[in-house]
Amino acid sequence: MSAHVKVECLDCGYQAPYYPTSYTCPRCGSQWREARYDYETIGRTLLSLLPGRPFDLWRYRELLPVHGPNQVISLGEGGTPLIHAVNLGMMLGCSHIYIKDERQGPTASFKDRQAALSVAALKEAGITEAVLASTGNVAMAYSAYAARAGIKLWAFLTSLVPSEKMREVAIYGTQVVKVTASYDQAKQVAAEFARQRGLYLERGSRSIPSVESMKTIAFEVAEQLTGIFGPPSPSQNHSTTTTPWQSPDWYFQSVSGGLGPHGVLKGFDELHQMHLIDKVPAMANIQVEGCSPMVHAWKQGLEVAEPIRSPRTHIATLATGDPGRTYTLIRQRMLQGGKGTFESVTDEETYRTVHILAKMEGVSAEPAAAVAFAGLIKMVRAGMIKPSDVVVVNCTGHTMPIERVILGEGWARNLVVSSRDFQEVPEEGLLAALSRVTAERFPRIAIIDDLPDARRLIRRILQSQGDYTLFEASSGREAIDLAQREIPDLIILDLMMPEMDGFSVLDALKNDQRTAPIPVIVVTAKELTAEEKNRLEGRIHTLMQKGEFMNDELLDEVRALVK
Ligand SMILES: [Zn+2]
Repeated sequence: MSAHVKVECLDCGYQAPYYPTSYTCPRCGSQWREARYDYETIGRTLLSLLPGRPFDLWRYRELLPVHGPNQVISLGEGGTPLIHAVNLGMMLGCSHIYIKDERQGPTASFKDRQAALSVAALKEAGITEAVLASTGNVAMAYSAYAARAGIKLWAFLTSLVPSEKMREVAIYGTQVVKVTASYDQAKQVAAEFARQRGLYLERGSRSIPSVESMKTIAFEVAEQLTGIFGPPSPSQNHSTTTTPWQSPDWYFQSVSGGLGPHGVLKGFDELHQMHLIDKVPAMANIQVEGCSPMVHAWKQGLEVAEPIRSPRTHIATLATGDPGRTYTLIRQRMLQGGKGTFESVTDEETYRTVHILAKMEGVSAEPAAAVAFAGLIKMVRAGMIKPSDVVVVNCTGHTMPIERVILGEGWARNLVVSSRDFQEVPEEGLLAALSRVTAERFPRIAIIDDLPDARRLIRRILQSQGDYTLFEASSGREAIDLAQREIPDLIILDLMMPEMDGFSVLDALKNDQRTAPIPVIVVTAKELTAEEKNRLEGRIHTLMQKGEFMNDELLDEVRALVK
């Protein structure tokens, strides 16, 4: 097989050539092995090989366990965009948050990388039938690639997988087996089926192509951040030599079995070993609270994670109760690099974050992906992330479908046009019907801030979750004119503005009996002195600090003041 890669046993250190069909160390029988490359040579030559290659997964083929790109099965995997999360960053007070948008893969999750590389390796090895267990995304991704490669696939899915996802798996021609059991049990059933039939079994973190495919996320992130920030400057890391690529300070990912973070961390490690980046980022591995064996183990300083027998979460994709050795391997790598953590968030925090991402960033993420963002919000609020940190969050998958528990009811207006509406003049009948939907009077809110970005953020918060008539003013003078002319139901006021500041605006509003009763919410970036707080006392309803509130928190304040 590929001569440029060796597999090293993690138990006895024995190095052997790589064959996709060999699962164990020839010397000690261990199933835990890792790919090794000639890092010194590749480190010297990689940068000169990249120009002219497409920005996709195959760009880094020297560091992958296959001969090369397989045009026959490729669906355009990898090369996903790195999106600046401007609005989320403004709410959190961190201006360098980036979303690695893995939803934009061929089957809308980061598992496309795993499937593309694994199926390419299987094809090179001449394998035509394979078995896997999945909570949905792996099965969808493998099914698409297996279809192109001419490989028959057996997918063992737990009955918790939404039926829409199961149908998506089946449409590709995969044999779907619904297993009414936990995911860990479904994996055991699939393994036994593969053993009895002598078929290839996808083994997640124990499968060389699966781990290797995830590295490409790290490679792409480093290249993309370099495009944004340029190479790191020597002073940044107190070293005298510069590296060509930039690494984030933090990398966030949701964790189920741990394959993703395990592979991504290996990728950053390899880049560091080849002197292409100056540091390995701190890893933030986020689990859902009802199934967080790794978080428990990490917080207790344990080397081995205790399995959780019955996961208590509605997010089926993350319900791996037994992380096995993958946790231990991630922990070892993190302790060598010295940074990062494991953290957990609740189902409710996750659903709330699904809304934030969709409404504020235009990114519809599945709950399993939103877990990582919920972890980011939690860690920023705990003071663990510095405002200047460069943070990359893996948005691992698209939401499909939007579950009822996330959106609730009342998300659409019903417009029923009866034939009676059309009896006399059809146009008038239609307008009359429409007026039943639009006749409500919306509360009128004035947003006063000299910064266009700050006004946009507040406008977006209000327009995405409520029905308001909005006015905007960009200076104190304009604000007073606006308030006297429109008499809004509520004013949202910034304090720091040139010429006439928020304090003066407030004085003017309160001195005019027409505008004096209008409630005011102050949203400010300023640390207020005791004297300034006194000036606001009794004259405003709420004081909110910029960079320290989420969209729904501002909305709660607004809803309490206007109906
Ligand atoms: Zn061995």
